Amino acid sequence: MINKFLNNNYEEYKVDITSEHINQINDKIKKTNYKRLLIFSILTTVLEVILIIFNDIPVIFKGNGNVFIGKMYLLFHSLILITSSTVLILLRIYKKKRSSKIYNFIAETTVLLGMTCMAFIGALDQITIGQITSYITILIICGIAILIKPPKNYLVYSVPHLIFLYLTFRFQENQNILLDIVVNSTMYYICVLLISKVIYENQVEHIVKNIVLEATNKKLEYISNYDFLTNLFNRRYFEDVIKTKITEDKNYEKKEIAIGVMDIDHFKSVNDKYGHKAGDIVLQEVAKIITENIGDTDLTARWGGEEFIILFADKSIESCETIANKIREEIERNDVLFDNSSICVTASFGLTKFEGNTEKDFSNGFKKADEALYLAKKNGRNRIECLY
Ligand code: GH3
Ligand code: MG
Ligand code: MG
Repeated sequence: MINKFLNNNYEEYKVDITSEHINQINDKIKKTNYKRLLIFSILTTVLEVILIIFNDIPVIFKGNGNVFIGKMYLLFHSLILITSSTVLILLRIYKKKRSSKIYNFIAETTVLLGMTCMAFIGALDQITIGQITSYITILIICGIAILIKPPKNYLVYSVPHLIFLYLTFRFQENQNILLDIVVNSTMYYICVLLISKVIYENQVEHIVKNIVLEATNKKLEYISNYDFLTNLFNRRYFEDVIKTKITEDKNYEKKEIAIGVMDIDHFKSVNDKYGHKAGDIVLQEVAKIITENIGDTDLTARWGGEEFIILFADKSIESCETIANKIREEIERNDVLFDNSSICVTASFGLTKFEGNTEKDFSNGFKKADEALYLAKKNGRNRIECLY
């Protein structure tokens, strides 16, 4: 059913639904059932204890009414009590292990056992009060609250209902009441089958919509924070981090921060000679070299075009220079292979350090690094210039 639903909506949502998504849907259904079964089993356990103590036992011991029927009520209330308390214990034991196999059948088994007991109680009611209220009430509550995947829900509700009908035919002697109860209970039973199917499908639809929304949000977040070509952060995100994280971090006030601005040399001629696609691959390779060489606390971004920025944190300026030099050397050494051509590029670095963590400090630092880069270009490219 999930597959059918997903396939129908695949085109509409334009999101690749993977097996991981299907697991996610099943997981959320299990989670919802877990919460509902927990509440359900607590209430049922309490209610059954009260019924047994204050209704069933007095009937048997005080001899109020038919003792045999009293014993039958006690038997089925006790069975419901055993079912609900066992479910309660299992849910507590497997609270943290939602991947456990018991979650694949606990909801169905609980409803099947509970409703079968209720079918017997409903049939006993035919002898005593001639009503079906308790059976119908629990049938409706289960149908609405517990999510059971069709066609399993048909089996789970049909077996108890057939038992109920069979026993009602045997116990209800008044033909008019019998007809009334058979027709009414069967109408409710059919309604519950339909309701339970619709509720299950709506729940799946709701979960799929959330998955699509989550995937779309992630996509939007990626688009707004990353450069799709190099997979590095983009300038917007880099500036955002500086504005929102670093300027608020008191630690940075006292730290010496280094900024490196790197620009690929004569990149225009790479495009001119090998084509734009080759230029793109060079940008990707250069980005890879940068990320492989900077530290975990450093931050890099594609500043624009063939220009990159690195913010070095927690490092002496000497080690920043060493890293920048290593990046420069690796770019020079690693030729980029494209269409049987070997493209050799170099890059120039402008490096500076500054103290303070205000936006103005950063802006001044960046300006200085840019000046240093200009010097590196002027002094022959493929080099690092530092301005302090
Ligand atoms: P310099 O050594 O002085 O930096 O020279 P340059 O040729 O690298 O600098 P210039 O500013 O003249 O040219 C930069 C080129 O980078 C021009 C532009 O077409 C190219 N470029 C910018 N973004 C991209 C991109 O995403 N992909 C490709 N392939 N080229 C790009
Ligand atoms: Mg350049
Ligand atoms: Mg440039």
